[in-house]
Amino acid sequence: MKAIFPGSFDPITNGHLDVLEQASAIFDEVVVVIATNTNKKSLFAPSEKKRLAEEATAHLPKVKVVLAPNSLTVQVAKKLGAQAIVRGLRNSQDMVYEQDMAFINHEMAPDLETVFFMTTARYAHLSSTMVRESAQLGGDVSSLVPECVQKALHAKFSAKLGDRK
Ligand code: ADP
Repeated sequence: MKAIFPGSFDPITNGHLDVLEQASAIFDEVVVVIATNTNKKSLFAPSEKKRLAEEATAHLPKVKVVLAPNSLTVQVAKKLGAQAIVRGLRNSQDMVYEQDMAFINHEMAPDLETVFFMTTARYAHLSSTMVRESAQLGGDVSSLVPECVQKALHAKFSAKLGDRK
């Protein structure tokens, strides 16, 4: 069975990887679908997000990464021949939002199931936003993101931090 894991991934974090590791144990193939039509302002360009996601998931042979410009999640799933949408849950706030999304997607594509994975407790407070903000202020994010992302964040922000000194 094939699943997609859609999201912004700006950037991919250890929380996303935790969900992907859990999903890999159940599905035959999991495609990380990087949405590029999001209203959220992005730090990383789509091509950078894709490269980082590919590098971070190199140890997971069932995981592939694609970019999805201006597409509905259900349409991407159909195009890729996936039967399930994977989403991660951190807390009850995620649950409320994700439930609405799952209902809407089910209305549009009744044969597509949304499957939720609870995050490991230590990643329950982790978000890409928190990582971007910490890294921008020079914080240590090494326990929150894969090494390639840590390097990419450092490259993005070190020039700016240098300017402030
Ligand atoms: P989106 O803009 O779709 O929320 P994100 O990249 O922020 O994109 O998240 C993609 C998916 O990964 C969502 O289902 C989100 O709940 C989940 N996710 C994000 N961070 C974590 C985490 N720390 N633990 C588990 N799931 C997470």
